[in-house]
Amino acid sequence: MELAALTKTRLIDMSESNCLFCKIVSGEMATEFVAETDNTLVFKDIWPVAKVHLLVIPKQHYSDVAELAQNAPVILSEVLKTATEMAREYTAGSFKLQFNTGAEAGQTVFHAHAHVLSDTEKDGS
Ligand code: AMP
Ligand code: ZN
Repeated sequence: MELAALTKTRLIDMSESNCLFCKIVSGEMATEFVAETDNTLVFKDIWPVAKVHLLVIPKQHYSDVAELAQNAPVILSEVLKTATEMAREYTAGSFKLQFNTGAEAGQTVFHAHAHVLSDTEKDGS
């Protein structure tokens, strides 16, 4: 393996080993899951900004949605499908799907994730 490739591999390993959401996927950090599919996990955002605030993540580490789209579009489509299923299950039908991408856009966890946000819950409250 060339040096550049080795360095890149090491950087990717480091980012994964320090990644909060990878720790949630591995079970190192305990979290209650709302749903799971082959390639995604869903859990409640710890600091909700809407009545419904769920996070849908790929189990594999990609630093943001752009990297996910570039390298694993099939998994991205599973993230989108899971997110809309969560919206159908937990909201009255109106919701936002948000991927913060880059620190200046508000991304704080550098493992791709979709926010499912809604102030109208399924039960109408
Ligand atoms: P972003 O700012 O788009 O990167 O989104 C990261 C989200 O992860 C934020 O909305 C945080 O509130 C949320 N978050 C951080 N730590 C946890 C955790 N341990 N469990 C659930 N959500 C978390
Ligand atoms: Zn990760």
